[in-house]
Amino acid sequence: MNYSPRFRLFPNTEQREAMDWQRNTVRQLYNHALNEFNQIPEDEGTLRQRVWMVRDTLPALKDWWTDLNQIYSTVLQKAVERIRDNINNLGKLKAKGYDVRSLNWKSPREFRSFTYRQSGFELDKKSGPNGRGLLVLKKLKGETREIPIRLHRDLPDHEKVKEVTLKKEPTGAWYVSFCIETRTPEKPSVEDIDPDDTVGLDLGVLNFVHDSEGRSVGRFDLSDERERLEREQRSLSRKDYESNNWEKQRRSVAEVHARMSNKKRDFKHKLAHFYTTEYDAVFVENLNVKGMLENPQNARNKAEVGWRDFITILEHHGKKNACHVVQVNPRGTTKECASCGVETQKPLWIREHSCLTCGFELDRDWNAALNVLSRGLSKLGVVHSEATSPEIEDFWCANESRSDSSTPVETATAVSTDGGEYSSIVVDASRVTEAGSLALKEAAPAAE
Ligand SMILES: [Zn+2]
Repeated sequence: MNYSPRFRLFPNTEQREAMDWQRNTVRQLYNHALNEFNQIPEDEGTLRQRVWMVRDTLPALKDWWTDLNQIYSTVLQKAVERIRDNINNLGKLKAKGYDVRSLNWKSPREFRSFTYRQSGFELDKKSGPNGRGLLVLKKLKGETREIPIRLHRDLPDHEKVKEVTLKKEPTGAWYVSFCIETRTPEKPSVEDIDPDDTVGLDLGVLNFVHDSEGRSVGRFDLSDERERLEREQRSLSRKDYESNNWEKQRRSVAEVHARMSNKKRDFKHKLAHFYTTEYDAVFVENLNVKGMLENPQNARNKAEVGWRDFITILEHHGKKNACHVVQVNPRGTTKECASCGVETQKPLWIREHSCLTCGFELDRDWNAALNVLSRGLSKLGVVHSEATSPEIEDFWCANESRSDSSTPVETATAVSTDGGEYSSIVVDASRVTEAGSLALKEAAPAAE
């Protein structure tokens, strides 16, 4: 099994320039290789064989394209091999019913990463500035460079790291992920967990998820599919029951259904991947208890099927990514003040938490997510101070904590719902695009 923990890098200006240069050069190589690949007739070999043919021309290419000599050889090889991965992914998308075109050349916006395989990298866990580690990369624009890295969780030994991928998010932040082959990874022991590396999720009605760091991830937009479904169903109702045309139309309806559930599932997997790779522990409400507490007429119950499904997926990713997933008692999470613990009654339409006892004010769902976090920490046994958790102190100066925050989402999508000063950061569901990151999706083509 592979797992790929991800860490933030803190390059200096020169290192940043070198990484940008390398990313762009590797991109040009990819485009060049794709062009070469497209000229090889399909009957010359399997996909793998044809891509490898292009890869084998690398040494000759370096004779005239001298910039390539400044880049580590496996990085170049991986870039060419990406053609194969991308074509395979294209096939998977087609099989899922997506409308995809053939592989296109990549613009700088679409080509964000490069990968070292097996060698050319080392990790020095302690020598970086401010208690950080150092990621040592060979032949990064011609030189060995040591880039500071924030290691918020421990990594297995270097020998087990198969690949190291450096990626620039649309926000400009650089991340590295280590692809590690392992049996089921061991979850961090409770004593080693830093409350900063944990998160509470409130599963909401208006938004799918609201987390204790103030992110709010919207529901997946399926309005196009819903429209199409209605159209297909209308058309079905006009056909003669069990006729050939009716049967054909019935299949079209089924396809739209399948596409919708695939999209929803895909979205949940990406979200679960993000949380379980970014944190050491994820806390959610226990819906089995919740169901008994809530009124069946409540909109929450309609959404509940989707949440249950999400929790199952979250647990699966938790096992894979060595992240604790803990369900907590949901009683009163929205009523309780995350700062002082006093309960205030609030109907669903009151979107803000405003505590009469201590004056703490926050978005309603954010307050709930903080309560989920604090219950989760207690249940798991992580030492933390309940009344004034570090998160809450941050919120009193929310703007500062956002500007230097460690995730791309927070810096990129600091768009508030209503402009209020304690409103949260809203992430549109369509932006949950790539495994491992909750980054902004830019207007990218359908492929990949
Ligand atoms: Zn209070």
